[in-house]
Amino acid sequence: MKIEKNTAVTLTYQVFESTGKLLEASQEPMSYLHGGYGNTFAKLEAALEGQQAGYQATVELQPADAFGERNEALLQSIPKKHFPPGVKVGGQLESRDDAGQPHVFTVLKIKGDTVFLDGNHPMAGKTLRFALKVLEVRAASEEEIAHGHVHGAHGHHH
Ligand code: ZN
Repeated sequence: MKIEKNTAVTLTYQVFESTGKLLEASQEPMSYLHGGYGNTFAKLEAALEGQQAGYQATVELQPADAFGERNEALLQSIPKKHFPPGVKVGGQLESRDDAGQPHVFTVLKIKGDTVFLDGNHPMAGKTLRFALKVLEVRAASEEEIAHGHVHGAHGHHH
């Protein structure tokens, strides 16, 4: 079966920086509903369109096609006293940005009584290489199409 709109695609992936450094790898296969539902990056869907199980590809995405450019406005510094004890460099916490949207911040550094946070996605601003391997392609169920995501072992759990 070929990958087309309203198929459920199961794949494994690795994400590399343009330098070749491995940033992330799927611990187990993941499934998504193909066809512009916003479940994965549009350029990845375009690369997979019309392919079948067994297909492997490496797709390079510019920042704008992946996690976006870095936004320096998402760098914040906050007094340490506003944090629970145990805040440390490299840790992450969820907060709200200026627009009230929930956002994950990474602790960049702690200097004196000030904690410096970065609200950018850790992969923002990076050109990324996705190594993909398609394991399975099947027709999605009507329910999955209505929900806009895949159910089952590697999909969405309700
Ligand atoms: Zn659902």
